[in-house]
Amino acid sequence: MLVDAYQRPIKDLRISVTDRCNFRCSYCMPLDHYEWIDKKEILTFEEITRFAKLAIELGVEKIRLTGGEPLVRQDLPLLIEKLAALEGLHDLCLTTNGALLGERVQALKQAGLRRVNISIDTLDAEKFKQMTKRGDLDKVLEGIFAAKDAGLAPIKLNAVVERGVNDDDIIPLVEFSREHGFAMRFIEYMDVGNSNNWTSAKLVSKKEIIEKIHSRYALREIGRDQGSAPSVDYEFADGRGDIGVIASVTEPFCGSCTRLRLTADGKIVTCLFSQLGHDVKGLMRGGATDEEVRTFLSSIWQKRTDRYSDERLTALNSASYYPKNHRKIEMISLGG
Ligand code: SAM
Ligand code: SF4
Ligand code: SF4
Repeated sequence: MLVDAYQRPIKDLRISVTDRCNFRCSYCMPLDHYEWIDKKEILTFEEITRFAKLAIELGVEKIRLTGGEPLVRQDLPLLIEKLAALEGLHDLCLTTNGALLGERVQALKQAGLRRVNISIDTLDAEKFKQMTKRGDLDKVLEGIFAAKDAGLAPIKLNAVVERGVNDDDIIPLVEFSREHGFAMRFIEYMDVGNSNNWTSAKLVSKKEIIEKIHSRYALREIGRDQGSAPSVDYEFADGRGDIGVIASVTEPFCGSCTRLRLTADGKIVTCLFSQLGHDVKGLMRGGATDEEVRTFLSSIWQKRTDRYSDERLTALNSASYYPKNHRKIEMISLGG
């Protein structure tokens, strides 16, 4: 089994299929203008599939497609079809902002997609517009229900919680997900990328989120799925569903992090907070054999020592954390 320097196996692959997005969420992609990656530098579906196959041969079991907004990539169902056919892949999922899901979900399902995570930070249409700058809540709700009607399951809803912005949306989102049978996942606001001006004052901790929900709807902790999922899950004591919290800042899970990332322009990245990636596109376009690509990936994974969130917590606890001192790859090209 391929393991890194801390004995963590390689199990999950997050593939960013594009750096472009139709939203401008304040916590992710707040600027109006970005220098987009040149189209010819974006990996083709054949290149992505080849890399995924080789990564599966080295231990990857789950693939998540993300971005940017994955549904703005033309013909995404063609990629899903290719990935769904790969032997040894146990799980294929998509994370989307949902805006284009209503019109695309049938094609995605037919191509082999079984489940989806949809981001929705508030049910207040005005606030939704402010948080995403360009988003239309009705389109996203339409996408969520279209996914449900198409039979995708489970449908997980993701909300990043930002203090003073949408912390009062926690209970409405819980009630919405309980009513319709969705699994709500709250995400602690993180200092991803370099432009969201993160400060710890904007963070609402897992502890606070759970206390708020528990005081209204009693919860029982279930724990992490298979001991390693980012989300700590809770079930409602009345049996009506479950929720989870991804506490990357206050309860980091680097010790069990088995995630590899592939950027839209073909870089292998071993941590969400990496400063640089390893160019596998150059290798593949230069004619490397499968064996050479596998060896390249293996040697990167074997040397992996990332534990950024663990280190951040230590620094936050000693009041010595300055996010601006760490230049990171932007979330949009990384695939959150
Ligand atoms: N565009 C898609 C979407 O929004 O679902 C997929 C890409 S997005 C980068 C993936 C996930 O990262 C989303 O659930 C988003 O809410 C989350 N995310 C983005 N910025 C974040 C931040 N600063 N802290 C925590 N989560 C963040
Ligand atoms: Fe786009 Fe998703 Fe980032 Fe929002 S979180 S700006 S939808 S990539
Ligand atoms: Fe994994 Fe890096 Fe996140 Fe730690 S900070 S859980 S190593 S991606």
